[in-house]
Parts: sequence; structure tokens; C-alpha cells
Amino acid sequence: MMKKLMITLVLAFVATLAVQAQTVYSSAKGEKYHTADCRLSGDAEGINIDNAKKAGKKPCDVCKPNELGKATLKQCEGKTKEGVRCKRMTASKGKKCYQHQTAK
Ligand SMILES: [Zn+2]
Ligand SMILES: [Zn+2]
Repeated sequence: MMKKLMITLVLAFVATLAVQAQTVYSSAKGEKYHTADCRLSGDAEGINIDNAKKAGKKPCDVCKPNELGKATLKQCEGKTKEGVRCKRMTASKGKKCYQHQTAK
């Protein structure tokens, strides 16, 4: 009985961690945080959404980071100028971030 309860609690805890680990993008001076796909994120660094909130940042009105967090993010299949695989995450069907979608 107790063992089953413990497992349930652990699973709930892990699920909570997974939700909190959502990554958003925000530049150091930016007042808002964005999804990887947002054209307004610019050269922003990926940070934990909780850290962004703690820093007083607000979700972008254009990309709405909280809602996109429910979608499945995939690593961009594009490559940088150095030939290294892009590290941005994207929810777009083309599996490319906004930077590599436009570069043809
Ligand atoms: Zn945005
Ligand atoms: Zn990319």
C-alpha cells in the first residue's frame, strides 16, 4: 500500500520537473521571453522559463511561450555557418527554427 503511494508521488514529482524545465529564449536586456521560433527572439540565449519569470520577464505577445510549451519541440535540423547542427528547438512542422526556415 505505502509502496504504491510512494511511486505515485515520485512520478508526480518527476512530471512537475519536466514541466518546469521548459526552455524559453530571452536576451540579457530583453523584457520578454520567447519561443525558439519567434522572430523577435533575435540572438537570445535559451534559459529556463522559471528563471525568466524570476528575472521579471514577461511572455511575448507574439509567440506566447507558455502555450507553445505544450507542443512537442524538436531540435532544428538546420546547420550553422560553421557546419554545426543548430541548437534551437522548434515546434514547426518543417523541423527548422525561424532562422533556418527563411534561409533557402
Ligand atoms: Zn516572441
Ligand atoms: Zn536552426
